[in-house]
Amino acid sequence: MRANARGSGTCVGCKTGKFYRNGKIAEYVSGDTPLAESDGGVTPPVVIKIIFTGIIYMKKIALVGCTGSIGSQTVSVVRRHPDMFKICCLVARSSVEQTFALAREFLPATVALTAPSRNVSAEDCPAKLYLGQDGALRAVEASGADIVVVACGGFAGLKFSLLALKMGARLALANKETLVCGGDIVMPLGGDIVPIDSEHSAIWQCLNFERRAPFKNLIITASGGPFRDKNFEELEGVTPEQALHHPTWKMGAKITIDSATLLNKGYEVIEAHHLYGADYAAIKTVIQPQSIVHSMVEFEDGAVLAQLSNPTMELPIQLALTYPERYDCGLKPLDWSTAFSLEFLPLVREKYPMYDLALHCGEQGGIAPTVLNAASEEAVAAFLNKKITFCDIWRVSREVVEGAENCPAVSYEQLAEVDSDARARARKAISKRYNGN
Ligand code: MG
Repeated sequence: MRANARGSGTCVGCKTGKFYRNGKIAEYVSGDTPLAESDGGVTPPVVIKIIFTGIIYMKKIALVGCTGSIGSQTVSVVRRHPDMFKICCLVARSSVEQTFALAREFLPATVALTAPSRNVSAEDCPAKLYLGQDGALRAVEASGADIVVVACGGFAGLKFSLLALKMGARLALANKETLVCGGDIVMPLGGDIVPIDSEHSAIWQCLNFERRAPFKNLIITASGGPFRDKNFEELEGVTPEQALHHPTWKMGAKITIDSATLLNKGYEVIEAHHLYGADYAAIKTVIQPQSIVHSMVEFEDGAVLAQLSNPTMELPIQLALTYPERYDCGLKPLDWSTAFSLEFLPLVREKYPMYDLALHCGEQGGIAPTVLNAASEEAVAAFLNKKITFCDIWRVSREVVEGAENCPAVSYEQLAEVDSDARARARKAISKRYNGN
């Protein structure tokens, strides 16, 4: 058997090399003679059995939201490192064909569709198939994943995150509801939570992968979205097509609109508050139009560390799977032989009402961010369906937030109820604007 740099078992006459142990590359040395090879065969003069004290295995990944933007890029990371990762569970909402194609490629133990687009039967699927929301949770649990990548959008993502932590798996987090809505119930559980969002990943890297390391301020960068130079009043007539055109990132429709209103930046401040235990006063935001500086950390002595790279989500996704090790992620490096400039512009809270509203809800805490999240989702959907204007997204969201009584967030069930109640009130507010009743 030929020695495999990241393999396991018997190693033939290898002198030095690397192996993969407990998720880390480690050097090994054996003092033996090298391989002799002839005509494609191997004639080992001496066979050494290396018995590793640690179990060598590929990290098993459960990928929740496997057909979305982050899910597809996670798949691409796994394809780049097939010797390091094994997808053991695929969860998608409705895309039957795409999910089954991934299942045929990666042969996971379990597959789940929460709301399949057509009737499916177990024979269609090359893995054990689960259906429905509860089925998807069972599929993740049964897969025995080491890492659960929660890359689905929506409130249900919180349930997968809670499950991942209960399983003792690493939670690689791309679902915003988990911390925006559920931060108060998720963080007390402890566990290995690693960020996938580029801003939180940048902070995590600047903190040397220690979420609880001391710092003075976190500085979150924002591209500013397509309307960063306009005042809010000028945006009344913005069309969905204009708002869906993000200058830097290609993402799903909802998050692209949230980037245009800067609601997404407000959410990122709330997430940073939970993830890094930062007071809101210690979280600054700054517009960095080139999207090269992904965020920064200022320390007590005034030093500021930043993480720079060309924009790509594959870097933070891959790092969430491999940290503290770094590997090639196919990223085009920055070109230091060509002059380029980096600008930093102050992000004025008053200029972006959705950002301001998000910070207000974050500072209030409790269920307020959940109310905002639900109301804004309904409002964004109505804007995309051309029922309300771009500025109405804020008006509807504010109305629902102001009409809600705040209280502490205590459980998933409570938050799910708050979510559906806020949605109902948002739909009413939308209907009043659209139909006049
Ligand atoms: Mg982001």
